Amino acid sequence: MFIDKDYIEGLLEDAKTTTDDEINKILDKADAFEGLTHREVASLLVTDKKEHTDRIFDIAGKIKEHIYGNRIVMFAPLYVSDYCINRCKYCGYNHDHEFERRRLTMDEVRNEVAILEKMGHKRLALEAGEDPKNCSIDYIVDCIRTIYDMKLDNGEIRRVNVNIAATTVEDYKKLKEIGIGTYVLFQETYHRPTYEEVHLSGPKKDYEYHLTAFDRAMEAGIDDVGGGVLFGLYDPYFEVLGLMLHNEHLEEEYGVGFHTISVPRICQAEGVATSEFKYLVDDETFKKIVAIIRLAVPFTGMIVSTRESMEMRKDLIKIGISQISAGSTVEVGGYTAREHSSTQFNVNDDRDAIDIISWLIDEGLVPSFCTACYRKGRTGDRFMSLAKSGNIKNTCHPNALMTLWEYALDYGDDKFKSKVEGLLKREIPKIEDANVRDLVSNNIERLRCGERDLFL
Ligand code: SF4
Ligand code: SF4
Repeated sequence: MFIDKDYIEGLLEDAKTTTDDEINKILDKADAFEGLTHREVASLLVTDKKEHTDRIFDIAGKIKEHIYGNRIVMFAPLYVSDYCINRCKYCGYNHDHEFERRRLTMDEVRNEVAILEKMGHKRLALEAGEDPKNCSIDYIVDCIRTIYDMKLDNGEIRRVNVNIAATTVEDYKKLKEIGIGTYVLFQETYHRPTYEEVHLSGPKKDYEYHLTAFDRAMEAGIDDVGGGVLFGLYDPYFEVLGLMLHNEHLEEEYGVGFHTISVPRICQAEGVATSEFKYLVDDETFKKIVAIIRLAVPFTGMIVSTRESMEMRKDLIKIGISQISAGSTVEVGGYTAREHSSTQFNVNDDRDAIDIISWLIDEGLVPSFCTACYRKGRTGDRFMSLAKSGNIKNTCHPNALMTLWEYALDYGDDKFKSKVEGLLKREIPKIEDANVRDLVSNNIERLRCGERDLFL
């Protein structure tokens, strides 16, 4: 197995002897956008000298700026079923919790998607608990088909990422066939004893089956996979090394590591007391972790959800986060119901999507609704080689501008549109390639005249 508890513990112990000289060499390497090995990551995790952490944050900011610029990709989660046969201690959907469970009918999926499209979303993360009877793979495939088919005015969902339980190669093939974007699955914790302790029963209790899910997804032809852990279940430094080793395993075996890494932290959920968890991660440690992951895998997208507050998201965007959700609800049928209480976890940033987008623009960022790569077949190693060549930003930035303008035209009022026009005036001249600059200017006019879905 590519994750070995003793090996990770040994790494963290050995890392304590890293000299200042060695740390500086590791940081120089990160500063050159070369990424880091898990051993190097261990050294950065255990250092608490201010001069080192200051440099970690500086370099993370530089990488973010250089590779991702001021863009931030927007998405929204869509919960389709809260039936679950697992008993995960940290989750409100835990089989033991008594509440009226439901899964959406296809009409209800259409209603939810219509609301998401009215918010301007183009990229969804489909989420469901595990229950082969009430929420089979065929049901999930039906949901995805319904989502892609649902078009309201100019609205359409162009990329559906999927976060469902670990499953078989045959099931992953069905997801591949229907055309998913990224397959997302969190390991929750890489520390096997903790994993077994917090997963009381159900198929998810099988650590190895869960850990090898991406191998099966890759075998089925899904080459964009997104990992993550639930910070707070175990020692966060152990978890970061688990993520790094998992990423290296995928790179070695399949030539491409994680497409994205998500960084959820344990927070209050109904029926789940945070005081039960000994490893809750404080804000400073959390930021340090995000920054170190940014240094280690500079070309891997990093995602934060509405679990984090506005202030925290703002700080995290500066040091590495490249995707955030907006206007989210985390309940099945939640967009339709828009109830205030949350069963799975509390949403800390509950502003409307357009308010978040407007705020992001005021913060000097360019919210992006781009879904181009998946639709152009730039997935897996094709995406990574473009990303690593440094050329991806020449695609992302123009696409961000075109999709934001499309969003403003379809969903913004006059004030919002003129805000985005101001942004375009500032941002278009920054496009280095004169041909691309002209193309974008031309496309901005085509969008104004009613064309849609223009991208590079
Ligand atoms: Fe079910 Fe997932 Fe919640 Fe576990 S984390 S109880 S598998 S929905
Ligand atoms: Fe993402 Fe590709 Fe669009 Fe860039 S061009 S934002 S990498 S989909």
